[in-house]
Amino acid sequence: MRINAFTVEDIPLITKDHNIAKIICSLAQLDENDIVVVASTIVSKVEGRIIDPEQITPTLEAIRISKQTDNDPKFVQAVLDECTEVLLESPIFLVRHTSGNICINAGVDESNVENGLLLLPTDPDESAKKLKDDIFMLTKKHVSVIITDTNGRAFREGQTGIALGVAGINTHHDWRGSSDLFGTILEVANEAVVDEIAGFANCMMGEGNWGTPVVVIRGFELLSDGDGMNAMYRPPETDIISNALQNYKWRP
Ligand code: GDP
Ligand code: MN
Ligand code: MN
Repeated sequence: MRINAFTVEDIPLITKDHNIAKIICSLAQLDENDIVVVASTIVSKVEGRIIDPEQITPTLEAIRISKQTDNDPKFVQAVLDECTEVLLESPIFLVRHTSGNICINAGVDESNVENGLLLLPTDPDESAKKLKDDIFMLTKKHVSVIITDTNGRAFREGQTGIALGVAGINTHHDWRGSSDLFGTILEVANEAVVDEIAGFANCMMGEGNWGTPVVVIRGFELLSDGDGMNAMYRPPETDIISNALQNYKWRP
């Protein structure tokens, strides 16, 4: 297998009303079956997902949590407004974003945005689908799209890219039912390919000021109708770790 991957250079500072598909297609020659990986930061920017913290009135709940985490109550309120469930209030504020992704601070970010707080896209699968369709309109090429964010992980130090929204690609490569080298049938292997691709693309994007929020992966042809990110999130019945957190209290 030989795969080609490149960053799309010279992308401007993105603001609301930019057209990301147009920008990508004018700066890179896309091919049929390419996987276009885009940092959620720029998707949020075009979707105008920036709020002014001064406009937020924190609730008593936000004030209570902010005292535990030493956070600004307005910031805590912004996170509460973006999540459907709080898994841990402190020492890390671990929540389920409305899209289903469990992450710190609901992905609300103060970095790589000039003013205000940057929120994740409301419906990342929908954003990915729109980008895929826009790219098709402009180029007549069918591509897969993965929208990423940088997330921390349980158990391991350091962050990696994860898939937050997908279109035209299956979230998993399900190996279950196929055999190993010795004929034993695989019973567990269900590889989260979109996270693996997001992880690699994210290290090409960089964090901070590299200015490369778009990566194209060529030669790994995974184009399909796609199943959507809901296939990635464990249902409550089988999510052992988040169940364990329900009864957990941090004792410093
Ligand atoms: P996240 O992982 O989705 O939270 O995105 P990051 O904030 O880590 O940014 C990923 C990459 O995109 C980094 O190389 C940033 O410098 C770059 N980036 C973020 N916003 C912009 C932008 O508006 N324009 C350009 N050209 N690059 C950006
Ligand atoms: Mn982010
Ligand atoms: Mn990042």
